[in-house]
Amino acid sequence: MKIVNARLRQKPQLHTLEITAGLFSQISEQSSSIECPEGAIDAGGMLLCAPFVEPHIHLDAALTAGEPNWNQSGTLFEGIERWSERKPMLNEADIRRRVLETIELLVQNGVQHIRTHADISDPSLVGLKTLCTLRDELKDKIDLQVVAFPQDGLLSFPNGLQLMEEALEFGADVVGGIPHFEYTRDLGVESMKTVIELAKKYDRLVDVHCDEIDDPNSRFLEVLACEALFNELGSRVTASHTTAMHSYDNAYCSKLFRLLKNSGINFISCPTESIHLQGRFDTYPKRRGLTRVKELREAGINVCFAEDSIFDPWYSLGNGKLLRSLDFGLHICQMMGYRDFESALDLITDNSARTLNIQDRYGIETGKPGNFILLDGEDDYSVLRKQGDVLLSVRLGEVIMQREPARVTSARYIQD
Ligand SMILES: [Zn+2]
Repeated sequence: MKIVNARLRQKPQLHTLEITAGLFSQISEQSSSIECPEGAIDAGGMLLCAPFVEPHIHLDAALTAGEPNWNQSGTLFEGIERWSERKPMLNEADIRRRVLETIELLVQNGVQHIRTHADISDPSLVGLKTLCTLRDELKDKIDLQVVAFPQDGLLSFPNGLQLMEEALEFGADVVGGIPHFEYTRDLGVESMKTVIELAKKYDRLVDVHCDEIDDPNSRFLEVLACEALFNELGSRVTASHTTAMHSYDNAYCSKLFRLLKNSGINFISCPTESIHLQGRFDTYPKRRGLTRVKELREAGINVCFAEDSIFDPWYSLGNGKLLRSLDFGLHICQMMGYRDFESALDLITDNSARTLNIQDRYGIETGKPGNFILLDGEDDYSVLRKQGDVLLSVRLGEVIMQREPARVTSARYIQD
């Protein structure tokens, strides 16, 4: 496959790229726009970048909003209650249908790498087993990582620990946790130590729903980061949400950041989900409920954005468009400076790939898998501003999605 007239991120010149046997074999600068040779793809000066990464989504719960009941209050805790009503209706066919439909939606929007959580607070483990099976079946089409996620607690749910070990033995890629939902602070702390021990025992990654609450006293992040540091697992560990950090005292946060930086752990923030679920116990002023993305970034800590939900008991909107999450995130976190815009796509591409520990096979570089997307825009800023469509998605040199740019006819306001 040959692509001409492509613009790459942070590079003003046009480029020609070649993919041979599934890998980028040549990437060269053009001095000017060239005529497209027969059989090649003309990028037309559009931005060619590495595929979008969805680092935090719950595919087992996707597309179930309102079944059997809607989350009327919009709180996280009513979401967990509504989900527990839907859980008995789960079966393999139901999960497969919804997961495939959701993956298709994500692929249509430029995603080629997904980390999904699978609820293991279910003695049958049907969600986890179905997702692991689909991961293996779809491995040539999409990268899927499955997190064993103890929704109702690792140590507070009956046989929670046993179910976790069963999930890891079945082949879950990542150990999950939910310390702020355990019955007591002590159980929350113990759960974090257990998660790290399990990651070492089974040689897996870690991704914890950590402090997803507005309680400024929810401080399990420090335990997770410290365990990651002492066990030298930093880059393999991720803290998702950490919304309590929004409400931490600044003096405590300043101390905490030293540990976070030293630990090398990754962060995932879910802007649409958190602005919707957090701040629910506030009157006015209402907290924004997002973790300190801007400050984490400025401190050189790896942070990325995710959707979390698509039409599920926690969040009844969502459409697979990570550019939408990025737009929300930059607004809510007040990251609206020119420098933020210039590298905005990092938050849904490179940083997310680092979180998933897939950097060795991710990016537009010779020798790496020939995976890319073509976006309607010339650079990060213009794609973000236009909310530019994904026009093409290529995996190992094969087109997996193509979209015709929309044609709009309107009255002419500008005279030539
Ligand atoms: Zn989640």
